[in-house]
Amino acid sequence: MAKVKGDIIIDIEKCKGCELCTDACPQDSLETAKQVNSKGYLYIVKIEDNCTGCTNCALVCPEGAITVYRKVNNQKKEIAKFKNITNDITLTVNE
Ligand code: SF4
Ligand code: SF4
Repeated sequence: MAKVKGDIIIDIEKCKGCELCTDACPQDSLETAKQVNSKGYLYIVKIEDNCTGCTNCALVCPEGAITVYRKVNNQKKEIAKFKNITNDITLTVNE
């Protein structure tokens, strides 16, 4: 099965530090930063590179501060293999 890798971008100036996203993240990828943004809110930062792109954090964010990206790692899958008559050359066709 193809493995899904995700990533997020947080607009820290939009973030109000409500922590709904940290609670919603099943990967515990998010944490409150130790600094505040220009409006005085402690904003959220990504602390782990294990995001699956599930979108939970973006869905619960009332400020629309999170954008989620998803990348599916297309693993090569063998779909055909041919051998020549003397069996010394093999040609493999991948998806
Ligand atoms: S997309 Fe899912 S896994 Fe990634 S940071 Fe958001 S809640 Fe966590
Ligand atoms: S849900 Fe949105 S506003 Fe709340 S802490 Fe997360 S990014 Fe900031």
